Amino acid sequence: MDYNLPMILAEKVYKILPASVIKKLQPKIMSFVSQRLTVGHGINYVDINVVDHCNLKCKYCANFCPLAHEKYLDVEEFDKDCERLSSLSSGKIKTIRLLGGEPLLHPRLIEVMAITHKHFPVSGIDLVTNGLLLLQMPRAFWVQCKACGVTVAISHYPIKLNYAKIKSIAKEYRVKTEYGRKPRGMYKWLLDINGGQDIKESHAYCFRAKQCTVLQEGKIYACSLPPWINYFNEYFGKNLKASEGDYIDLYKVKKFEEILEFLGKPIPFCKYCNTKTIVYSNRWELSKKEITEWT
Ligand code: SF4
Ligand code: SF4
Repeated sequence: MDYNLPMILAEKVYKILPASVIKKLQPKIMSFVSQRLTVGHGINYVDINVVDHCNLKCKYCANFCPLAHEKYLDVEEFDKDCERLSSLSSGKIKTIRLLGGEPLLHPRLIEVMAITHKHFPVSGIDLVTNGLLLLQMPRAFWVQCKACGVTVAISHYPIKLNYAKIKSIAKEYRVKTEYGRKPRGMYKWLLDINGGQDIKESHAYCFRAKQCTVLQEGKIYACSLPPWINYFNEYFGKNLKASEGDYIDLYKVKKFEEILEFLGKPIPFCKYCNTKTIVYSNRWELSKKEITEWT
């Protein structure tokens, strides 16, 4: 079941439009879609940062990975968090996305996939990767992908990747892969470092609030900004404050509806997001770690 139909429809429209038309129309389509997204009876995507750092450092990375230090998901803690979220949500999560950073860098990724599948047997599981390490992955990785019904979703960047070979290995193990026909454009999320935005308006125009729910260290966030803004702050010497109002504690809520209600409302951190002027479809390039990539 899709809980956020407007976004699904927009993605279908993007598939049939030429790139030049998408570039022109995307800001209008996205603000139209964002204002119509609602959190209904379930969640479309729950994102898990399997590692915070990445082996490819893209300009505009929405999770600040070019600025992140080496950090790996704690597998035992993840198991407990999944158990708790699973019992609260009773299957009302459409897809769990294992991402990062680059998830293939986690030495216990196979266990992470097994735990995810154990607690969310009816949800889809997407392993979102830049693909650079896929040809080095052992047989056990592919076997586990198949056993857990994991889709290997490769982000298509204009980098050297032998997709034909990856596809053929995946086929051998009967693992589903996704790879966009064309390299993707990058969106530039505009942070207002002075926190001067109207939180209701920022939230209303935000598609991440209703599509990129994050589970991290026992907490549910509406987006990936508050949990990882520390990397931005540390690198650029800024102080964008993430506060207690920016998440909901998995172990304090009693019902899944409390989480849905939280996800449907603006959070204090929205004052830092200039969502009305996000620039979509930027050309992909490597990050130079300049503050203007996020502001
Ligand atoms: S590959 Fe993805 S996670 Fe890694 S830096 Fe690029 S956008 Fe960020
Ligand atoms: S802080 Fe608010 S406006 Fe910014 S990305 Fe998160 S939910 Fe959206």
